Amino acid sequence: MVVKFLLVIGVLFVLQLFPEGIYAQESYSRTLLLMGNRFDITVVADNQERGGKAIDLAIGEIQRIEKLISSWDPNSQTSNINRNSGIAPVKVDPELFGLIKRALAISKLTDGAFDITYASMDRIWTFDGSMTQMPSSEEITSSVSKVGYQQIVLNEEDFKVYLPVKGMKIGFGAIGKGYAADKAKQLLISNGIKGGIINASGDMNTWGSQENGKPWTVGIINPMNKEKVFATVPVKGAVVTSGNYEKQVIFDGVRYSHIINPKTGYPATGLISVTVFTSQAELADALATAVFVMGAEVGLDRINQIPGTECIIVTDKGGLLTSNNINLDLK
Ligand code: ADP
Ligand code: MG
Repeated sequence: MVVKFLLVIGVLFVLQLFPEGIYAQESYSRTLLLMGNRFDITVVADNQERGGKAIDLAIGEIQRIEKLISSWDPNSQTSNINRNSGIAPVKVDPELFGLIKRALAISKLTDGAFDITYASMDRIWTFDGSMTQMPSSEEITSSVSKVGYQQIVLNEEDFKVYLPVKGMKIGFGAIGKGYAADKAKQLLISNGIKGGIINASGDMNTWGSQENGKPWTVGIINPMNKEKVFATVPVKGAVVTSGNYEKQVIFDGVRYSHIINPKTGYPATGLISVTVFTSQAELADALATAVFVMGAEVGLDRINQIPGTECIIVTDKGGLLTSNNINLDLK
């Protein structure tokens, strides 16, 4: 099964060569595994050497971020925070401190549907094929007791982070790829790259335009016929889709997604995919996850209140819903 089921982001490259000359631009792309996910990095540059160097820069930046924020890497600062839950505050880089602060702000904005402290629950829900039965309700109740973004203690003066409950954990699974895409984009812009796309398995940030001057576009795939792109939308900024079809588990015919409702401890149900458009991939990433948890009605209502942010939702009944300012040109 392809990574994203319904909204497979297909960037349409029109390789229209300009006449030879010093201003001729081309797009250069590379695909590789970073942060445990497929990344496709595309830059527009005037020759292969510059394009290749720019892509190397982006890769270095994403690897740096992974080392800092990964909760899987025992040597990361995030793992240090988690190991010290219920024990002691941990001093971290201002960069990680800032990411945690912004994550808490998004939790407030989404009434806790997005919550980086969901991570204690990933001990009982695993989506790599290793889980053979539903977690017991006792296990779920006990994991929920360690969840709650309001409990995180931040000390602004010395950049210390404290998780007050033993066993409490944070994880950036729903925001980290977006953050990395934003940072890689910023770095390339400051290095003079005028256009490109950082696509982290469907979490993407774009800037500038294609080499032929046309805007970047994404194709929306028809849920009932995956071969058919039924709408093509121009993209400025970030577009992120939540609803990774590979990460799921089925018990008694019910499909459980890897996005967990932090309040109940059970996976969110009802939606198949959520795509969010906004200027920053970090915010889009977190909001897509949150809308998945909030459901279509509450989720769309919330998105409609956030300026510059739009959303497309596909429900498990095949329904397609959009926020107020999206007009899908359905074919
Ligand atoms: P995708 O992998 O489809 O891009 P997301 O960006 O929504 O999906 O990220 C899902 C990941 O986020 C999960 O694998 C898990 O690590 C983490 N996560 C799950 N539920 C939540 C939640 N309610 N709040 C924050 N993070 C979550
Ligand atoms: Mg997300």
